[in-house]
Amino acid sequence: MSLKLGIIADDFTGATDLAVTLVNEGMSVLQLFGTPDAVPDLTGIDAAVIALKSRTIAPELAVGQSVEACRWLTQQGAGQIFFKYCSTFDSTDQGNIGPVADALMDELDAEIALICPAFPINGRSVYMGHLFVGQELLSDSPMRHHPLTPMTDSSLVRLMTAQSRKRVGLVSHDHVKNGAEAIEEKLIKLALDGCGYAVADAIDNRDLRAIGRAAQFHKLITGGSGVAMGLPANFGISPSEAATAMPRVAGREIVLAGSCSVATRGQIAFVKDRWPVMKLDVDAIAAGEDVAGAAVDWANQRPATAPALIYASADPDEVAATQARYGVEKAGAMVEETFANIARTLSQTGFGRFVVAGGETSGAVVSGLDIRALKICGEIDPGVPWTQTTDGTEIALALKSGNFGTPDFFEKAFARLA
Ligand code: ADP
Repeated sequence: MSLKLGIIADDFTGATDLAVTLVNEGMSVLQLFGTPDAVPDLTGIDAAVIALKSRTIAPELAVGQSVEACRWLTQQGAGQIFFKYCSTFDSTDQGNIGPVADALMDELDAEIALICPAFPINGRSVYMGHLFVGQELLSDSPMRHHPLTPMTDSSLVRLMTAQSRKRVGLVSHDHVKNGAEAIEEKLIKLALDGCGYAVADAIDNRDLRAIGRAAQFHKLITGGSGVAMGLPANFGISPSEAATAMPRVAGREIVLAGSCSVATRGQIAFVKDRWPVMKLDVDAIAAGEDVAGAAVDWANQRPATAPALIYASADPDEVAATQARYGVEKAGAMVEETFANIARTLSQTGFGRFVVAGGETSGAVVSGLDIRALKICGEIDPGVPWTQTTDGTEIALALKSGNFGTPDFFEKAFARLA
């Protein structure tokens, strides 16, 4: 089977976000963690998303990893490549969006590629080439203080010009509002003028779908998840129940929470007097005690019919005190490694349904379970789908980035499984 669409995402949660967008539009999507060594079973799969962690690494590394991913995807038949970055265009003058996009353009011999981070339902819109976060320009939003990628300019044309080798033009809303044909005409004009990139304005989903249609024959598209919503229709695919079906995986249910975000702490508080819960002792981990082993024993001794929760999450004062004792990185790494060990052993002792809270925690659990690919299933809350392994041990996983989900998320997640 060959892929229709190949996606390269510059971070893990962004990859899932884009995968869900395609699933909601009817595509069958596989998410891969890095470029795989072996080809997984792609039967019935329309799109593969290769999740990299390339947003803030050295530009030459990001380029190398992205080109490798692109080659793999085209080898599996993908005729169109989507380079997914954050809807706030997280990058610096050195990259990595510009250098990666330039390299992908060369690799694919593409004439012109869209730049469209807009995601209006999440408050990201582009007008006259300027990116807005809610009602503020990007450069007035909190993103101007981001520790790694401070965004102090809102002009996507200027931002991309600073980091790419190619000319950057604009398809303004005057064209976008007139639909796909008008956009296509403008794109052809820009290409003739020597532009390699076209920033596209988009203020609502109608704009995004028109832009997606206009890019039907582009070899490369770059942007946020929003513009991907128009792409499945280009392949004759429409929303379906099959695409959003939930995983059918038996096994005991467990929540592993390493996120210390407000949302996750609220979700933990919600289940505390409903389910058995256990808190990991970070000092005991640091002292070399077998905390993972004890947690696994505890989980195994709970009633098999109810879910249980194991968490490390703490309020900011407690986290700060722990970090002061062991260092920020070491504290995080110790907890992550413990969760990876817990997940691995639980999967071997009858647990098959995992909800994981926290981006880094999710990464650790996925590595602990030695998972290379996940089939994306239906959404639990916006941006958080159930997923299912496609080979090896059958596991259903919901990977929730810290701040996502309603207070009853954990309960809701398991209720969605048959
Ligand atoms: P989020 O998605 O909310 O950012 P992450 O899992 O990405 O969540 O990050 C949370 C980090 O905090 C992880 O590295 C985790 O190991 C760490 N952590 C969890 N609990 C504690 C704690 N009690 N003390 C210190 N660090 C912790």
